[in-house]
Amino acid sequence: MVKFICFECNYTWEGKSAEDNKCPKCNRDTGIRMYSDDEVIEKDFYREVMEAKVKNIINISLNISTMLRNFSTRSKELILPKLFNTINKMFEMERREDYVELHDEFCKWAIKNIKPVKTQTTSRISWGQAAKIIDVATKFVFYYSNIPDQEYAKKVIKWFNSPIDRFMLQTLKMNLTSLTNIDKEKYELCQKKIIELIEDYYNNKLYPLEFDDLIWSYNKHRLLN
Ligand SMILES: [Zn+2]
Repeated sequence: MVKFICFECNYTWEGKSAEDNKCPKCNRDTGIRMYSDDEVIEKDFYREVMEAKVKNIINISLNISTMLRNFSTRSKELILPKLFNTINKMFEMERREDYVELHDEFCKWAIKNIKPVKTQTTSRISWGQAAKIIDVATKFVFYYSNIPDQEYAKKVIKWFNSPIDRFMLQTLKMNLTSLTNIDKEKYELCQKKIIELIEDYYNNKLYPLEFDDLIWSYNKHRLLN
């Protein structure tokens, strides 16, 4: 038996499993698991907190990527668990190739499983759209949040692709205007162009994610500059 308290109405009850968190009194999914003193001593809460943190950040990143409006309803329910799973695997990378492999695997999965909204003319989402989901998520988890720790994040962020959005497309000047037309080949050309711009204008001193931050800052925060 698992004890719960409702975050809305403070009602307490016992559920069968940790997923059984719907409040019997107000019917909301806001039950928070309660631990006994013994369990609190036993349990490693750090892991649980870290997991919650990653889930919350992924959720924020998915909303910020603004990709969901291009996908059929309920896509979020499919994407979040897959994204969480992929990011978890990214906590154990040793070489850049590990990143490339996980990134590729996510994009292929998304193209196969996520459908565009009916108003779009294509029957499949593009590589560019799939990549945007994972690229924004990794930027938020590793680059902005230094998860799982600073040392690891520092090691891996230099491998990461930059998210490609319309500001970036304008910056790259490659005659590409929409993510829906960006296949794997074009996506990789964009990443190559970003590296070239960093070589030409920043003496090779920036990572693609830092370059992306600058582009965003110029385009979005003119009032602050
Ligand atoms: Zn309640």
